[in-house]
Amino acid sequence: MGGPPAIAAPSVSTMALTKEALQALVALQQRDKYLDLIQKEIDAVPPRIAALKADLESEKRHMDAAKAKILEFEKKKKSKELDVASKEEAARKHSLQLNDLKSNEAYKAMQAEIEAEKAAAGDIETEILQLMEDIDKAKAEEKAATAEFKKTEEFSKKDLEKLEAELSHAKGRFETSKTERDAAAAVVGPAEIKVYQHIRGRGKPDAVVPVVAGHCGACQINLTPGLILEVAKLKTLVTCESCQRILYKPELLAAAAV
Ligand SMILES: [Zn+2]
Repeated sequence: MGGPPAIAAPSVSTMALTKEALQALVALQQRDKYLDLIQKEIDAVPPRIAALKADLESEKRHMDAAKAKILEFEKKKKSKELDVASKEEAARKHSLQLNDLKSNEAYKAMQAEIEAEKAAAGDIETEILQLMEDIDKAKAEEKAATAEFKKTEEFSKKDLEKLEAELSHAKGRFETSKTERDAAAAVVGPAEIKVYQHIRGRGKPDAVVPVVAGHCGACQINLTPGLILEVAKLKTLVTCESCQRILYKPELLAAAAV
């Protein structure tokens, strides 16, 4: 037998039942399944909104990083330009001092120093040229990243509006269907509702299942002829011994329908 004793023990309950009550239960289940579908639609929207926002955030970070790179290169360039100016200034000052020097050695040493200062200035100029190239490249990257961000921003704004409209539409449908569902539930007896809700609450949204060719329509277990007979009587609520779902014979309910 298996299963929790609370509902597994008597698969044929002593609860009185009518054909109409079982029909009402099946109808209620249809409504609940529809509500579950709408709820699923509603639940699917927030993650999609979050994904859109995350995409946009990532594009923005890319754009900001590109902007920061330009600033960094420009700062480096400015500092190198100051270095060049100071080397050139030093070379200029030392050139002015050359004629005041008395000894040949001092003159030569000063001359060498001036040459070194000029060479250093030249090297830094080369670095500045490289930085200017880097800045151009970074600017092109920034331009592309900004265009990409703007495009994503525009698209995600439209998508966001669409998703929000979808969400509000789904919520509206849910409310309408919920009212209809509650009206359908009011027709079902409180005892049947209790069993039905209990089964659904255990992660089995298909709480009421048809007997299909002698088997439970959900778990497919072979049902005993005695149990099937009880189902056919429509006198008591009968549950599957294996999965504890409420059983019904669709042909009997359909005959009474309309
Ligand atoms: Zn079953």
